[in-house]
Amino acid sequence: MSNSWSSLVENMGDYLAPSMAKDHPNLPVVKAEGCYYYGLDGKTYLDFTSGIAVANTGHRHPKIVQSIKDAADQLMHGPSGVIMYESILKLAKSLGEILPGDLNCFFFANSGAEAIEGALKLAKYATKRPYAISFTGCFHGRSLGALSVSTSKSKYRKYVNPSHLTYHLPYANMQACPEGKDPETFCINELEKHFEELFKHQVTPEEVACVILEPVLVEGGYIIPPKGWLKKIRDICDQHGILLIFDEVQTGFGRTGEWFATQTFEVTPDIMAIAKGIASGLPLSATVASKELMSKWPAGSHGTTFGGNPIACSVALTTLEIMKEERLLDNAKVVGQYATEKLKKMKKNHPIIGEIRSVGLMIGIEMLNPKTKKPDGNAVMKILDYALEQGVLFYLCGNEGEVIRMIPPLTVTKEQIDDGLSKLEKALHQFEKEFKIEAVSNI
Ligand code: PLP
Repeated sequence: MSNSWSSLVENMGDYLAPSMAKDHPNLPVVKAEGCYYYGLDGKTYLDFTSGIAVANTGHRHPKIVQSIKDAADQLMHGPSGVIMYESILKLAKSLGEILPGDLNCFFFANSGAEAIEGALKLAKYATKRPYAISFTGCFHGRSLGALSVSTSKSKYRKYVNPSHLTYHLPYANMQACPEGKDPETFCINELEKHFEELFKHQVTPEEVACVILEPVLVEGGYIIPPKGWLKKIRDICDQHGILLIFDEVQTGFGRTGEWFATQTFEVTPDIMAIAKGIASGLPLSATVASKELMSKWPAGSHGTTFGGNPIACSVALTTLEIMKEERLLDNAKVVGQYATEKLKKMKKNHPIIGEIRSVGLMIGIEMLNPKTKKPDGNAVMKILDYALEQGVLFYLCGNEGEVIRMIPPLTVTKEQIDDGLSKLEKALHQFEKEFKIEAVSNI
């Protein structure tokens, strides 16, 4: 490393909390553009992480950069509640047009966790009920309220477990379906059983404010539930006057090939939390509900200093424009399908690959130990490192880190997919050679 800050990188543990400094792979970069990161080491890296599903329009899209400059020339800070400005109002109107049903009233904040806090508080305030139900494996953020409903990893909750007002039910698990049975029916039956047991033994439905879940289990391993399972949750909520919250922090803004997963799965929640891809990298998020529901929450019951920042709102409007002009939802569907098919072919040559799970451009590549068929998080770490050496950056998910998480910008081309996956395959071969795993080699 030659740059003036390379010594800071080497000693970053002295300046940054370990939880900031030591996530994996933590590539030092000097610049980003489109689907590429430019490393401090002078190398170019294909980015298949989108900064964890944020840079959906690609890094530093020229229209986004211009939009930041234009907005900064006018107004850099609100706060809403003291002054009012055009971008926040226009954004609320535009987002309402792409969201289903009457989800068109917004509380803007800065991060995914804040949007979840807002959703939980709104549900409890509006119903005057204390309890939430969430699903095992879901991740909703790290602030205490969001953490109370997050169970993707117990290490996040250690010593601070705040879930005394939450009940947890198992997420849909099609892998557990006995052979010969229909996985969707199996998951629905299991779900009904779990709710029945919960309501019989632990909490009455009249005390439950909300059911919260990710419509696709993200940190939990990119698990895609059957549509009917989500519909059944909607029915159970309706039956008992419980509000349904979808955490679309990661599934939103075209990631699944529709604007939101709620449209992919045709189930509309009462409240949604959205963030990440909303403003192409600027911090912005929102809790969304109908005007009727939001109006149960009087002024002062929730608030923010920075939420709905004027520059971030302007950039979110430009993000929507780009997504429409460049037909990024279609690209997510077409290129996502293309990548999935390629990966399924690749699986035939590599016994370590388990399931390939995908919807749009969110793709999970599960790694199982070829002998034991158990999840292999250590293998994923190695393969990610080898892939990085080849010049492509992936992320990981799954309770044991056993799933390679592939979330390229929605602008990604088939050629970039070919390039990234051929680099991944080289990394797999390197791993198999080192650990003497028999691959059906064709490289
Ligand atoms: N919900 C989901 C589904 C997420 O993936 C994340 C972050 O990865 C969050 C909530 C929390 O968002 P943030 O890190 O912006 O607080």
